[in-house]
Amino acid sequence: MKTFFKKPVSYILVLCLLLCTALPALGVSAAIVEKGQITIGTVSGNVGDTVIVPVTIAENPGIAAVTVSITYDSSALEFIEDLRGDVLYEYMTKAHPTRNIIRLVTCEQGNKHNNGTLVNLKFKIADKAAPGLYKMDMIYRAGDFCNWKLDKIMPSVTPGGVNVNLTVDNCPHASYGEWTLAAIATCTEPGAEKRICNFCGHVELRDTAPLGHEYSDKFTIDKPATEKETGLMSRHCIRCSSFIDQISYTLEQSDEGDFDNTIYEEVAPNDTINDIYKEQYPDPPDEISSENDSQSTPSKPAESAIDETSSSDAPESTDGIPDAVAPKPNDYIPDELIRMTVKGKIAQIIPEIDSIIKYIKIALLPLFAFNLF
Ligand SMILES: [Zn+2]
Ligand SMILES: [Zn+2]
Repeated sequence: MKTFFKKPVSYILVLCLLLCTALPALGVSAAIVEKGQITIGTVSGNVGDTVIVPVTIAENPGIAAVTVSITYDSSALEFIEDLRGDVLYEYMTKAHPTRNIIRLVTCEQGNKHNNGTLVNLKFKIADKAAPGLYKMDMIYRAGDFCNWKLDKIMPSVTPGGVNVNLTVDNCPHASYGEWTLAAIATCTEPGAEKRICNFCGHVELRDTAPLGHEYSDKFTIDKPATEKETGLMSRHCIRCSSFIDQISYTLEQSDEGDFDNTIYEEVAPNDTINDIYKEQYPDPPDEISSENDSQSTPSKPAESAIDETSSSDAPESTDGIPDAVAPKPNDYIPDELIRMTVKGKIAQIIPEIDSIIKYIKIALLPLFAFNLF
């Protein structure tokens, strides 16, 4: 209610409205004037927004008193206040949410002939309002619009309303696309899949299980044997730096087994290697190998009689790897080299890259998808 709207004005307004409706009933002649065009504006907004719906009049035949109801949907719209237009001045509004109407009454001091805005209605769109048009209309009976001659003004009414936009906040997400890869799982870390709402673009994510290590059937030479030092070999995961079943062997055993005693070479198990394995793993859990968390702790290597201080005698690398990063006996942990073996090829990367490689993988998803890595 406007502050200028005082009690005396209310009395005048009530009297005016009574005259509009009662005098014709008492036989006082009142003309019917079917002129004027009322239009309720149509506006749009998102849930939570404040919107203003103008109620305008065109071809105004001149009005002095009005008492009408404007319908709205209180489940989606909360009436906040009215804002004065440029036609009415002595008016008041009152919302009745349970009846879904806003009452608009006025009794002007003389006929108002100008076209323009009767009143602006300010609403807040409910946070849970579903998308769609919430229609607003005006209901009135003969005599609810009148002029100072008490003629019954019968304007046409064009409904409007508030169109609540579909956004991620009020979308029911009734239809999603297919699940697609969002992040590649690693041996130990989960990956992710995503699907997108067909209506609002909302992205739903879900985890996928870690892949688990996949160890090669072949052994990889971690450290070639020399005349003074035993060598080391183990089965490597084809995706990461994890390894299992590390065994030590002598130069003589490499000759006996006729396997390539070259660092990073892959050798297929043969009788010699199997014998070495059984000797060093006399009680394997199930199969020839037993998986362990070799990311941090390699399988127990066989006892080595070689002096650890002789690491400088490690064989020359065949691929340019400095001796300083060559495996050491007994406590060999390939921290300094992370070797990724895929399809029989060995790539070497510095450890710092490991922390960012998963991000690179995500960026290069298409390449991974075609096994280009
Ligand atoms: Zn959606
Ligand atoms: Zn792995």
